[in-house]
Amino acid sequence: MLLINFNIFLLGINIKINIKILFLNCDNIILNISLYVNVNKMESDKKIYYTYENIHSLVKNVAKKIKTSNFEPDVLIAIGGGGYIPGRILRNEYKKPLIGVSVNYYDENDKIQEKANVFQWIEKKHVKNKNILIIDEVDDTRKTLHFIVEKMRKYKPKEIAIAVLNNKKKEKEPLENVKYFCSEETEDKWIVYPWDYY
Ligand code: 5GP
Repeated sequence: MLLINFNIFLLGINIKINIKILFLNCDNIILNISLYVNVNKMESDKKIYYTYENIHSLVKNVAKKIKTSNFEPDVLIAIGGGGYIPGRILRNEYKKPLIGVSVNYYDENDKIQEKANVFQWIEKKHVKNKNILIIDEVDDTRKTLHFIVEKMRKYKPKEIAIAVLNNKKKEKEPLENVKYFCSEETEDKWIVYPWDYY
């Protein structure tokens, strides 16, 4: 059997080609060619596009940082909708309860609003005296994270940590007494996550 593997990188697209040749005898040769296309993160002037594979790498990266810090969460709190999938992936690393909260500062046209809409919240018993890890996909203006952290503090958690995939590089109010983990510091561009398109 002969195995040939090679990668071609073309315009941000990673094409992986595997060729398997099986020699049964001189007349019978089985040829198996598989093609695997992996689209890497793509960036235009205005937007950054991620694939699900990119998301798995970003979650792995942030999980590594949390582990290095020795922060051990008792509960994972995912902010919906964008924090749900990263939260679910992160739960593979921590066999702890995953609870969703849903707060939104954006309208249907992705325009930021003055007041937060709280659609779903958490019970105090899941937060009190616990190490809570709040998960979101992106820290943009940080308004959402400030709002959620202040609301959580009222429930007297033991410690609060935040995990985001992307922290957009811009000036923002610091989060006091919170452990902060981000997978990537990102340009201030609109990020299109794989769950934003199909
Ligand atoms: P912030 O309160 O930090 O401005 O925004 C937090 C929320 O806004 C995020 O959870 C996310 O839902 C949405 N958001 C902000 N920037 C982006 C972006 O670049 N891409 C996407 N898909 N959502 C964003």
